[in-house]
Amino acid sequence: MPSVLWFRRDLRLHDHPALQAAIEAGPVAPLFVLDPALLRGRWASPNRTAFLLASLRELDAALRERGARLHIRLGRPAEVVPRFASQVAAADVFVSRDYTPCARRRDAAVARALEAAGIRFHARRGTLVHEPEDVRGAAGQPLSVFTPFFRAWSALPLRAVLPAPGRIPSASAEPGTIPQLASLGLPPAVDALPPAGEAAARARLERFLAGPVCAYAETRDRLDLAGTSRISQDLHFGLLSPLEVVTRARAVPCDAGKFVAEVAWREFYHHILWHHPRVLREPFQPAFAAIPWRNAPADFEAWAAGRTGYPVVDAAMRELLATGYMHNRARMIVASFLAKDLLIDWRLGEAHFMRHLVDGDVANNDGGWQWAASVGTDAQPYFRIFNPVAQSKKFDPEGAFIRRWLPELRRVPDRYLHEPWTMPADVQQAAGCIIGRDYPAPIVDHHAARARALAAYEAVRRAA
Ligand code: FAD
Repeated sequence: MPSVLWFRRDLRLHDHPALQAAIEAGPVAPLFVLDPALLRGRWASPNRTAFLLASLRELDAALRERGARLHIRLGRPAEVVPRFASQVAAADVFVSRDYTPCARRRDAAVARALEAAGIRFHARRGTLVHEPEDVRGAAGQPLSVFTPFFRAWSALPLRAVLPAPGRIPSASAEPGTIPQLASLGLPPAVDALPPAGEAAARARLERFLAGPVCAYAETRDRLDLAGTSRISQDLHFGLLSPLEVVTRARAVPCDAGKFVAEVAWREFYHHILWHHPRVLREPFQPAFAAIPWRNAPADFEAWAAGRTGYPVVDAAMRELLATGYMHNRARMIVASFLAKDLLIDWRLGEAHFMRHLVDGDVANNDGGWQWAASVGTDAQPYFRIFNPVAQSKKFDPEGAFIRRWLPELRRVPDRYLHEPWTMPADVQQAAGCIIGRDYPAPIVDHHAARARALAAYEAVRRAA
């Protein structure tokens, strides 16, 4: 009997258990549904949608090489999927599991509608290395602290990586067309999107595993070096299988443990979201729901536009606006700055990131923001507040990152670059950078802001 392979966050042919199961069942009709909730909903982003559409084109090309093709439909999955499955006379619909609250509601609705039409719905592994049900503590409980989670996660055996299929027996209907961003009525994306599709993602992984992975533990925090893999959008859209990434990383001839641990953070946050879906609305630690966040739209706008007067924060925020990407260390610095120095609700920052990040991922982003605001799963105490100047000096020692993104600071001498407001007037003149005219004075004094944040957090903790 024909079946439908409904692609979602698994836009690849390698290591795809749901695709393999569909092929074993008979002819396959590959489907992708452009869901208005994703295109225009709470977490929508033109950058991510543009990358998605380009990846769909690549997926369609790869399917055609194998005798199948991608069918595109626009609409609510609970209506579109059963209609499409009936059109191709499918007995089964296969998907890779998804874990966000939204995806769970969607899948439950689709499964019900399919059942009513006599069609079976099967959710398979493939989005994570290990399923939330499988990573447990000694007493069988879900783990909400990373270190024990990582221990349990690392101890589980890995299944074998599946090869990409050869010819795919095909069940076809009218294919539909993969739209352009503009025809969906969405604003343009940035120009600097990374090459999309499975082949480009695999090339990024190969490049990283061929060398940089061995220096990762030393270079991963440096803002001025390309020391990380840059595969986050590929893992988000499933252009790469995380199981394949981990299997390959464990096989390199050096210690890739630090890199594997970072991939495990992705698993950790997905498992947290699965077990505690409420974290998308409120802090993991309920006591911190009472923090009196400041209502300070002008400060938020300065942060979002990269105009806080702290170069490392501004460089990172401008990189995000220009490219849809930000280095992990920079994400930690700017998130800490928003939540602690500006005492602005981390959820505003979370939403801003989701609007711009090509790798914007509900689970990772929420986890990262709660970590930075010290309201999440992390045992790190709230009184460890990043000093943006110290971070800048440590992780961008020559200022190359700052100078790349802040042209107005290019001629500022090294010794003032991380805190340009300390420049004497004649040096400002010589550097062509007058503070308050060419580059903003700091919108907040870090030491005073730190004391304010500590007082706010401490008061909430005492009252709890
Ligand atoms: P690498 O360092 O090469 O890491 C390899 C992979 O491991 C990444 O691609 C990613 O999938 C995973 N990973 C690495 N670090 C983390 C982490 N701290 N948490 C979860 N997964 C991790 N990552 C996203 O994929 N989407 C997001 O929306 C996102 N938002 C974040 C928001 C904040 C405030 C913070 C602090 C972190 C966020 N991260 C997010 C995690 C991390 O910053 C990015 O995954 C990483 O910078 C991507 O670059 P890379 O692929 O070169 O990472």
